[in-house]
Amino acid sequence: NDTRLGCRSVLRVKRSAIEHNVKELFRYSGKKLIAVVKSDAYGMGVRYIAPILRELPEVDSFAVACVDEGVFLRELGIKGEVLILGGILPEEIEAVKEYELTPVVSDPEHLKVLGKEDIKFHIKYDTGMGRLGFVEEFIEDPRIVGVMSHLSTPADEKFSREQIKKFEEIVRRYKGRLKIHLESSAGVIYKVPYTTHIRVGLALYGEKPLRYYPLDLKPAVSLEARLLSVKEVPKGFPISYGRTFITQRRTKIGVVAFGYADGLMKSLSNRGYLLHKGLRLPIIGNITMDMTILDLSGTDIKVGDWVTVVNEERTFGELAREAGTIPYELMCNVSSRVKREVI
Ligand code: PLP
Repeated sequence: NDTRLGCRSVLRVKRSAIEHNVKELFRYSGKKLIAVVKSDAYGMGVRYIAPILRELPEVDSFAVACVDEGVFLRELGIKGEVLILGGILPEEIEAVKEYELTPVVSDPEHLKVLGKEDIKFHIKYDTGMGRLGFVEEFIEDPRIVGVMSHLSTPADEKFSREQIKKFEEIVRRYKGRLKIHLESSAGVIYKVPYTTHIRVGLALYGEKPLRYYPLDLKPAVSLEARLLSVKEVPKGFPISYGRTFITQRRTKIGVVAFGYADGLMKSLSNRGYLLHKGLRLPIIGNITMDMTILDLSGTDIKVGDWVTVVNEERTFGELAREAGTIPYELMCNVSSRVKREVI
């Protein structure tokens, strides 16, 4: 009863691992989570991820990038606070009211859009991220229910501590019971004493945000694709567009149904590998839109077999290191044609 059949690639999310990671983030920080599920839950499929998270008592609320993503969460039946991290543009006010979304105000123009509307919001300060947030102004407004900032370089302890101190001075000026949040997955290591919530995305999936990360996370995602063709070619045979690889010997090649349109970085052409039962299968030739060619010499792998792109040992983080990027980018690039499944 193989539920993967009928598709050519599948991304599987292990519910128990997500639950474990949420509990671990809560245990370590002592704070409830604002679950960051923007960009389709980092490409993992928000329609699958949000329903898992909302059942967990450690998850306080959700955050997304834009109003459309917030509306989608409501349509999934998500209740409670939904933060719109990317502020509010004039044409979005109606949807914000109708779907009871909570914008994060980070620019005087956002305040203008809100006008005198009775809309609760969080306010964002830029303490060194150099992106969104007020830098020198202090905003007072009875509708403020939360105050946030964002760390730019969690791996840099000195700079992060400066941001943490700056934010503390801002927070001290607010009175009343507000949500105060600063730490992302990596930022959790600073155990900031004055924040009330952590605002995390990556660690939910068991991906380590820092090389040395003191939390015990469980990788939650696997990504597999099927072989469409297996054949032998003679020595001196060109492989894929541009003939960037020429076989050095008689070679058994496999064509796997996973290309750059599915999310495999083209930069892994002739450099990366996929896996089959722990065995590394080198990527030969250029990765193409829908297919990648592997060297299967010496294996008995056949058409219809599954090969692994990501699993518990070879996480998005590992693949990202090989591809010269960050796990966030690889995850967000997993295409919508890859089937999602919760196991
Ligand atoms: N807060 C903000 C403002 C973000 O942009 C992000 C993600 O990019 C996060 C929190 C979550 O970060 P992470 O996925 O590293 O936990």
